[in-house]
Amino acid sequence: MTLIKVDKTYDVKLSGKPSLAVDSLPIQPIHGLHPYRIPNITPKLLIKENDSVKIGTPLFFDKKQPDVVFSAPVAGQITQIVYGPRRRLDKIEITTSESQEAEVLDVPDVSSDRASFVQSICKAGLWGVFRTFPFQAIAKIDATPSLIVLSVDNDEPHHPNSSIILDKYLNEFKKGLSVLKALSENKVVVGISSTNNDGRAALGSLITHVIEGEYPANNPGVLLYKVKTSVKENSAWTVTLQDVVRLGHLFLTKKYPAKRIVCLAGAKAINPRHFEMIQGTPVRSVVGDVDESTTRLISGGVFTGTRVSNDDFIGFSDEAIHCLQEGGDQEFMAFMTPGFNKASYSRAFMSSVFKKSSWALSSLVNGGERACIECGYCEEVCPVDLTPQAVMKRLAGKDIESALDFGLLDCVDCGLCTYVCPSKIELGDLFLKTKSTLLKEVEK
Ligand code: SF4
Repeated sequence: MTLIKVDKTYDVKLSGKPSLAVDSLPIQPIHGLHPYRIPNITPKLLIKENDSVKIGTPLFFDKKQPDVVFSAPVAGQITQIVYGPRRRLDKIEITTSESQEAEVLDVPDVSSDRASFVQSICKAGLWGVFRTFPFQAIAKIDATPSLIVLSVDNDEPHHPNSSIILDKYLNEFKKGLSVLKALSENKVVVGISSTNNDGRAALGSLITHVIEGEYPANNPGVLLYKVKTSVKENSAWTVTLQDVVRLGHLFLTKKYPAKRIVCLAGAKAINPRHFEMIQGTPVRSVVGDVDESTTRLISGGVFTGTRVSNDDFIGFSDEAIHCLQEGGDQEFMAFMTPGFNKASYSRAFMSSVFKKSSWALSSLVNGGERACIECGYCEEVCPVDLTPQAVMKRLAGKDIESALDFGLLDCVDCGLCTYVCPSKIELGDLFLKTKSTLLKEVEK
């Protein structure tokens, strides 16, 4: 077990941390998916309105790799398929039936030959859980990973506590890990936070690295950055803890694993806690009837998630729903006030002297984008040693090659540089969009 210290991180003290209580949320009358929100795929439908589906029936596939399908989390009838601009596949809605029948899948043992083993994961709708660095594209089904990187803890505030997941699904996790080992010829890195004593006790020798540092030290991209030893490993694969559990569940039960743990968090969340629920649960059934003019809903992490509405469904791989204060009144002459209640990375406000344990952050950005003042804050927090301001300037000058030389592809999309930027420059967003354009070029 190797200790990894990540120095450039930041403790974002966001209030509304979920309690360790886990409520079991029953199946809802309607479940759904938003295929366009699954990154880096081109979805093509396999069903039409009024079709009946079982749990695990393939709903659509990725045109780039037709063997990669995405399956129904519930049994019922397809009641609505909604397209957005330019025939973007926005929503598939399933009205759930009383009997929740599941497809019985043909899943061989992990020791069987690789081709049938890989095909069974594809047919079960789970190949999409394997993402590759540096673009987070779905792994090629005919490729063998140079390394699979798994981080047990997601330290982006707030995400499900891994102890809850391991407590409930330790057997499934161990089985899932054996699947990763079979796929990668045993080249799996398992990182865990140094503060996660329960997880370390439960997993023992399965852990290869212990990680020390605040957000985003436990990001698998940061872990890869610290452990990689060859250029080949730049295109390592990654998979989340809950998806390892789901892989294990598939191989143990031969049924599509539709359950996951999702937490409700944020200063405006009522009774923030954990839920065990079926994929594609409506946001409303978790947050209640909130007023969206005063509450911002985010599916996923506060730095990496997507803004959603109460009528949407929780993202297929999202593990959290956040309720934050929407906007707020602009303060008159705010820069003249001592700022006792202003969360800030810089020491411009008195809040840096009287430290609070948590902050009820809102969606208000307190001003518009201004020119970069070269404060260097972004560099201070970048866990993979980039100089984000320098990369941004290369991209502004359309000099992609130079931006790549400055390490653009090492960026793990943590969003910290955007958060600490006093000039409100959306650095993280710019890097993410540039990488997505580069991926399209690579895939041509
Ligand atoms: S460049 Fe910004 S988003 Fe990328 S890893 Fe560094 S701090 Fe995170």
